[in-house]
Amino acid sequence: MSGQVVVVGAGLAGAKTVEGLRERGYDGRVVLLGAETERPYERPPLSKGYLQGGEERGGAFVHAEDWYAAHDVDLRLGTAVSSIDLGARDVVDGSGTRTGWAHLVLATGSEPRRLDVPGAGLQGVVHLRTLDDSDRLRALLGAAPRVVVVGGGWIGLEVAAAARAAGCTVSVLVRDPLPLVGVLGPELATMFADLHRENGVDLRTRTEVAAVVAAGDGTRVGGVELTDGTLIDADLVVVGIGAAPRVGLAKAAGLHVENGLVVDAHLRSSNPHVLAVGDIARAQHPFLGTHVRVEHWANALNQPSTAAATIVGADEPYDRLPYFFTDQYDLGMEYVGYVGAHGYDEVVVRGDLQSRELVAFWRREGRVLAGMNVNVWDVVDDVQALVRSRSVVDRDRLADPDVPLGDLL
Ligand code: NAP
Repeated sequence: MSGQVVVVGAGLAGAKTVEGLRERGYDGRVVLLGAETERPYERPPLSKGYLQGGEERGGAFVHAEDWYAAHDVDLRLGTAVSSIDLGARDVVDGSGTRTGWAHLVLATGSEPRRLDVPGAGLQGVVHLRTLDDSDRLRALLGAAPRVVVVGGGWIGLEVAAAARAAGCTVSVLVRDPLPLVGVLGPELATMFADLHRENGVDLRTRTEVAAVVAAGDGTRVGGVELTDGTLIDADLVVVGIGAAPRVGLAKAAGLHVENGLVVDAHLRSSNPHVLAVGDIARAQHPFLGTHVRVEHWANALNQPSTAAATIVGADEPYDRLPYFFTDQYDLGMEYVGYVGAHGYDEVVVRGDLQSRELVAFWRREGRVLAGMNVNVWDVVDDVQALVRSRSVVDRDRLADPDVPLGDLL
């Protein structure tokens, strides 16, 4: 095997791509280009264990510092790619250097959405995406300020939990009727709303930010004004209102971009020598029968092995079900499966929503589309098997904790 592989984006997906290539015996040159100066790291600790102080910073890195050289990977940090030339098969970076490729893997991840209101640029309005952001936020939370979190998604809720643990006063502002309602639906979103309120969060729903207002000196944040005129005092505003896939390079190169870089089940884009992994990849999913784009850690962890397989000529479509997890206060959960555009008919709960120890199943026409285990462990394989079976499952047996999940198939 020969020909140079260039991977653009040195996050988890990029790092796992180069690892996958070497594991599969790829012996050509491998170049990994990253805009940040940190070597590849994983993001879950940034809003969970590391942010809360329980985990070491070093634990976030994907590989030891010397791993790249030891595996003959040319890791170039602080190197932002500015364009892709499909005809010449090279990429150009900020210094004008051209790097040629036989295969190009795009692992450029996502960009946090910015709050578009007056005052959003004040000091003390922060986003959380990078390890640097997490370092800074951790220090700020340590000063126990009054924190306002804008957005009731994963970042918003995990940061709220970390801020409460640090002793901050916390308000969370959610545009929807419930946090996470777009992902989980009202049944389970209510559980997260209750969890945060019980842990002392001032959770405000159906609310929007009109402006961030300055403190006395005019440069720092002093509060957040809502569209109904309410003013909430704040020393720190954390914005977690979603992320957009970084597809600018792919689009400018003329690749098929439509809510992400569109790729087949082998992760090949409209140019078969250009692949995508992680947040930007909207990949054809053989089991789900549609293209899906998944902005979660497990996807960035696992898709690269498929990309590496494709490059070395193996036929291994990416067929894993979407999976994500969270830890907030004393709640830990895992979710596996995919509800999709057709939605669900009902949620069946096995266990107890009040005590937050349960497995929830999203069903359509009697079939399980997805499941979420909350403070119940070692069931993900069984839940996946249920989803993959596509079998119609008896409702009462599904809800009965005394019936082993494995017996439902
Ligand atoms: P997210 O999970 O997509 O949630 C963003 C939330 O903000 C959504 O509820 C969204 O509502 C809302 N929103 C959008 N625009 C808004 C606005 N102008 N004002 C108020 N709310 C607004 O995104 P995130 O929490 O920012 O996280 C960023 C990325 O990191 C995501 O890809 C996420 O999956 C990932 N992440 C994952 C985990 C995990 O898996 N545990 C943890 C942290 C981060 P609508 O849905 O109605 O637009």
